[in-house]
Amino acid sequence: MTVAEAGLLPRITILTANAGGGHRAAANSLSEALEGRAGVTYLSLMDDHAPFPINTWSAIYGPWVNYSPWLYQLVYRYGASRDRVLMTERAVYPLIRPWVEKGMLSVNPDLFISVHPLHTDVPIWILQEAKRRVPFVTVVTDPVTPPVAWFCPDVDLCIVATEEARSVALGCGMAPHKVRVIGLPIRPAFQQARGQPKTEMRRRLGLTPERPLVLLTGGGAGIGRLRPLAQAIARGLTNHPAHPQLAIIAGRNRELQLSLRAERWPIPVRVLGFVNNMPEWLAATDLLVSKAGPATIAEAACMGVPLIITDYVPGQEAGNVEWVQRHNVGLFEPSRQGLAHVVAELLQPGNPELARMAERALATARPDATREIADAALSLLL
Ligand code: UDP
Repeated sequence: MTVAEAGLLPRITILTANAGGGHRAAANSLSEALEGRAGVTYLSLMDDHAPFPINTWSAIYGPWVNYSPWLYQLVYRYGASRDRVLMTERAVYPLIRPWVEKGMLSVNPDLFISVHPLHTDVPIWILQEAKRRVPFVTVVTDPVTPPVAWFCPDVDLCIVATEEARSVALGCGMAPHKVRVIGLPIRPAFQQARGQPKTEMRRRLGLTPERPLVLLTGGGAGIGRLRPLAQAIARGLTNHPAHPQLAIIAGRNRELQLSLRAERWPIPVRVLGFVNNMPEWLAATDLLVSKAGPATIAEAACMGVPLIITDYVPGQEAGNVEWVQRHNVGLFEPSRQGLAHVVAELLQPGNPELARMAERALATARPDATREIADAALSLLL
């Protein structure tokens, strides 16, 4: 008898990790979408069960990408071949197995959903060796150029955001019927905050309501050259006819937050650490400046907020930059002077381009993706 036939609420374990903010954001989004339809728990084999040094990877992800992007790119390139990924995972597996197996078998859900690329092959092997037949879904949070580590052919269902990602999955030997293109999971709160008047949102956030808002972020870990970028934007907006204001979200990068707070700014600037009300901040924003984080791009599209990308994590985020440009929902502007110029131009009173980009962003958004992903996952239990 299936869980559905027994009339029970299914138990789902979401496998995730705290590297960056996107994986945790995806887990939270799915958990919210499954509320009342399943009991959800989280499990991170990497953060909470793997031995040293693997259990430090989430914590060092931000500083690593910030200070040695070239090294990250080397590792990404090495991991671009499914054979090399498997060879490495198989070599490491016997060393980590006693710990991660204990973590994995400590839960006994009706369904696993993985939202992290290093939580696919190893959990599947553990389940196979323990002869536990539990449906397993992968929700790929890198929308365009996902690392091949995501694609274990033995999962039951793999959900991706674009046709490009589907091609990568098929290239890794996944059966076509197992790969569905739906979108990226974003929190239902973004959909609810859609269309709220910006001035009202700015009032609620304690900002000056009539000043247009530029929001600068670097993902959950505060990645990128946020301080020099903020300085360039602020200088470019000094004496601007629209009198804009700037908010900077430093995420979990405490050092950055302190250095931004110590700065004297020529325009009104609000400096924030990790915020839990991103939907409100995006609803208040006229123009977002960010690295090419997939969740941030999907959230901005859902809220109709145009985006300027200044940085990207080598490898996995490169395709996101191309996607943003192809869909004309934003621009790529890596130079500080160029960024200052573009921001000032877009905010010129009467410039129609900002509104055009906002419209195109709304048109590309997939606000229902999270619910559709939840439905597809639950359908495995019918
Ligand atoms: N985020 C947040 N609060 C913050 C900074 C970021 O909730 O202060 C969320 C953001 O809304 C998005 C995620 O963290 O959902 C960032 O994910 P993304 O894929 O853009 O980049 P990553 O952090 O994974 O590099």
